[in-house]
Order: sequence, then structure tokens, then C-alpha cells
Amino acid sequence: MRALVFDQSLSFQPRHRDPVESDGDTLLRVRQAGVCATDLEITRGYMGYKGVLGHEFVADVVSSPNRDLIGQRVVGEINVVCGRCDLCLSGLSSHCRARSVLGILNHDGAFADFVRLPAANLHVVPKSVDDDQAVFVEPLAAAFQVLKQIKLDGRKWVTVLGDGRLGLLVAQVLRNAGCPVRVIGKHPDKLAMCEKWQIRSRPVDDITPRHDQDVVVDCTGSASGFELAMQVVRPRGTIVLKSTFATGKPMNLAPLVIDEINVVGSRCGPIREAIRALAEKQIDVASLITRRMKLEQGVEAMELAGRPGVLKVILTME
Ligand SMILES: [Zn+2]
Ligand SMILES: [Zn+2]
Repeated sequence: MRALVFDQSLSFQPRHRDPVESDGDTLLRVRQAGVCATDLEITRGYMGYKGVLGHEFVADVVSSPNRDLIGQRVVGEINVVCGRCDLCLSGLSSHCRARSVLGILNHDGAFADFVRLPAANLHVVPKSVDDDQAVFVEPLAAAFQVLKQIKLDGRKWVTVLGDGRLGLLVAQVLRNAGCPVRVIGKHPDKLAMCEKWQIRSRPVDDITPRHDQDVVVDCTGSASGFELAMQVVRPRGTIVLKSTFATGKPMNLAPLVIDEINVVGSRCGPIREAIRALAEKQIDVASLITRRMKLEQGVEAMELAGRPGVLKVILTME
């Protein structure tokens, strides 16, 4: 099969080995997949991953032990879990000690013609959600996770740092939850998009951090974003950290102690809620697509996705 593979360097492989079927897995033919910041971080050494990249996808089920799934259009949970360890048994299966993660940790991803996942990871996509929307299910679920982790009732001042792919999803989710949310970013066109969605926005160069925000969600993907978050959040406020960055820049964490800040790491989220929100047209994802490219152009697509101001790049497998 064709695949976009990272092994020290990124390459398009026209004849990569097909996924090896293991017991109980479902075989999927990928329709299209989205490039995400995590994919870019992997090519900079994050997770030390080697293999097929890609974890935001929509696919058709080719074969499965769950016969009801065959022929269905699906999206998938990316954590492949054991179901037996202490964390799985205590309801924290996304933190399974023996997990692999699609395209991120010990499990070939979806920038390929075929991919495999356990049937339990799959969710059927309703007709009201098209392929372009469906590739946003995984990152949108990650945005919904913020609502699962922090109580927002009565919180007046919520700031999203970063106007990239994830920041713009998080901002829409928070707006829909009734928060008066503000986005701080670098790109005038993205900030204009926020205004279109009735979300307040400010260019980062225009703000004077005042330690006055109840909640700051850092979606910048950079260490400097976290430093800014520490200056923007109020004492005893909460920073939700959505960024995974591979750089090991030294950072002064004293402000967390002095201001008694809660820091909440936040990763994958509820897939069903994301599908429902897309089906009900609650979230504008169409505006977030910058370019659609063929799998063969994967190296170029990744390069494009890494450029400032570029939002979602979609790889199509047809
Ligand atoms: Zn992602
Ligand atoms: Zn487990």
C-alpha cells in the first residue's frame, strides 16, 4: 500500500507493507486524513515514533469481527488499550499503561491506504457529517475534553492562547458552552474568523498581561505560549495545557507557585460529543481547511502544514 512514513526522516512509500492483521482488529480503507501539530512534532523527535503517521482520519470498514461495521464509514479513538491494567480497570483507559496510539506510539497511522484498529475504537459517522468534517472529529474531541476537565460555571474570563487549528476549535466549543471567550493570536485572518463566529479576539502584540483571567487554555504549541499563560492567568486561576512541544527549553515555573496556579494537562476527548456537534452544525470546520492534497504529496503537505498561518491540510487517498 501507499503510506507516509517517518523513520528518522519523512518519506512517501509507494509500496509500504500492508497492515499486519492481529486478532480482533478491524481493517479500514482510509478515505482522507488531516495533518495535525502532533504529526509535525513527531518529525522533530516527539515520542521517538517510527512508522506511518496520521491519527485524524475517516475510513471505510473493509473487514471486522463486528459484522455490523463492515462497509460503514467510521472515525476512531486513537488510543489502543489493554482493558486489563489498573488504569483501564479504573476507567482511565485513555491512559492505559500498555497502550499504543495510532500514528504516535507503536501503532501505524492513517496516512496510508489501509490502517487497522480494534472495532471498539470505531464510531460510525452519520450521513449528516461529510468526510471533510469527519477528519475534525479527533481534534474536536480533544477540544471538548477541556469542558470535561474544568468547571466553567460562573467563570467570567476565559482566554484561548493561539489561533491555530486547535485553538479555533477550543474557542468555538467554549463559546457554545456559554463562556465569554477571547482568543489571542498572531494572524489577522484567523482573528477575523473569530469575529465572524462572535468570539472576541486580540492580536498578541496588543495585549498587556494583567494576571486577570480565570481560565487560560494554551493552544499555542510552543513553550513561549505557556510562559504567556502564566502572565495572563489570575492568582488561583487555571491553565489548561493543550500544547505538546518537543523542545526542551528551560522555563521558570516559579509563577505557578507564587500565584498558586492550577495546571491541567489535556489530551484526547469524547469522540461521540464531537460527532454530535458536527452533525448539529454547531462548529464551523469548513473555514479551517487550507488545502487538500494527495497522499503522494504527503511530504509537501506536512511542510505546508508547518508554515505559519496554515490551518488544516487534508490528505486524500483516492
Ligand atoms: Zn491531532
Ligand atoms: Zn490498560
